[in-house]
Amino acid sequence: MFIKEEELWNVLEQTASGASHHSIAHIIQKSRNEEPLSFEDVSALIYATSSEDLSLIFQEAERIKSHIYGNRVVLFAPLYVSDFCKNNCSYCGYRRDNNFGRQALTSEEIGQEVQLLESMGHKRLALEVGEDHHNYPFSRILEAIDTIYESSGIRRINVNIAPVSVQEFRELKNHNIGTYILFQETYLQSQYEKYHQHSIKGDYKRQLYAHHKAMEGGIDDVGGGVLFGLAPYPFEVLSLFLHNRELEHEFGVGFHTVSVPRLQQAQGMNLEDFPHLVTDDEFRKIVAVLRIAIPYTGMILSTRESVSMRQELINLGITQVSAGSQTGVGAYKESTTQKSEPQFSVSDERSPLEVIKDLVKRGYLPSYCTACYRTGRTGKSFMNIVHAGEIHTLCHPNALLTFAEYIQDYGDDELKEIGVAFIQEACDRIENSQLKERVAQGLASIAEGKRDIYV
Ligand code: SAM
Ligand code: SF4
Repeated sequence: MFIKEEELWNVLEQTASGASHHSIAHIIQKSRNEEPLSFEDVSALIYATSSEDLSLIFQEAERIKSHIYGNRVVLFAPLYVSDFCKNNCSYCGYRRDNNFGRQALTSEEIGQEVQLLESMGHKRLALEVGEDHHNYPFSRILEAIDTIYESSGIRRINVNIAPVSVQEFRELKNHNIGTYILFQETYLQSQYEKYHQHSIKGDYKRQLYAHHKAMEGGIDDVGGGVLFGLAPYPFEVLSLFLHNRELEHEFGVGFHTVSVPRLQQAQGMNLEDFPHLVTDDEFRKIVAVLRIAIPYTGMILSTRESVSMRQELINLGITQVSAGSQTGVGAYKESTTQKSEPQFSVSDERSPLEVIKDLVKRGYLPSYCTACYRTGRTGKSFMNIVHAGEIHTLCHPNALLTFAEYIQDYGDDELKEIGVAFIQEACDRIENSQLKERVAQGLASIAEGKRDIYV
């Protein structure tokens, strides 16, 4: 197994008592010089506590965010299609011990949910499913994907489901999924086994090697993550860093994204039973250190976090946020016949329009772009573009074009005013005259009603 706990703990112990300010400054300098960090470096950063050290770390995270990703923030929403689950994850509202009326959406119901998501402007979804091979077999997942693509203008479906076989991953790829996303929950095996007892998910290795299998099945954009709150966070951060290295080593490309969910209250669990919950200060540091440790990996933040925490963490490295999310099956439909059970509670309840206006007022460019995946710029070819610094010449214009679409189709008067001015200023700043011309042409086509235009 590539996670060697003893070695990781040894590295962590060396720096647990705190590295000197000089060492932290040296590590930050390495990051500025774009030298890869070592395990010892990441460990030193994650144990930093002095305000001097933290301020260096936050500044560097902000620098990387702006240097690599500019001011773009990608938006998406989760879509829960089945809450049947045979697993019993101690923290989850869908665990099998919880007794509630479970449901799986029919194709027609999926179509209705997607229509509501589209009416909010969404183009990119994360499909969420519990694990129950009897009540919701793999074939239903494939059908759900087809239904969404066929019945809507959704352009990218990322899939967050339990691990499947290499052959099944191949089928997911053939059904045009974007990223395969799976969280390790915790990399600490003893904690993993404690929280996933008597279930298929309790197999630590199955979870750990799921991304390997997905890549073997031809899915080259894979997303990882940790459910922060299950084990000591320094161990989790170092393990995520190692997991990313392992994928780079084996497949030539690491995680496309990592998610940083923090444990939330859910049905049938009590947060007080989890001794490793992370504080807001620790969480800021986790996001900043991950930004520095894996600079080229997108970072996803959900509506589990509060409005103010989301605003802060975007500065520190988050590149994608969900908006307007519902975490129950059929929950987007205004009048559900049966009240759905949420998987966990959310904190940021703003609509996508409110999130977008807030982003624009803070100088961020909301993006619904899905161009890379649809032009085959995935996996290694995407990372080559990112490493060559070309992301700005592709993602920035495409973000402007998708934002212009959004304003025209879903914007209110306020967004029309601030959004159009924002796009105009951004276009004026494009230095490459050819690119400027292409964006201007794209904007003119969008104004005429044409859609799905990208460079
Ligand atoms: N059932 C699949 C699985 O477990 O991998 C699909 C993903 S599940 C619908 C999405 C994620 O929600 C889980 O991986 C877990 O990390 C997270 N989650 C579950 N309960 C949570 C809670 N109480 N607070 C925050 N996140 C939670
Ligand atoms: Fe089921 Fe996933 Fe919830 Fe675990 S986290 S109980 S596998 S839905």
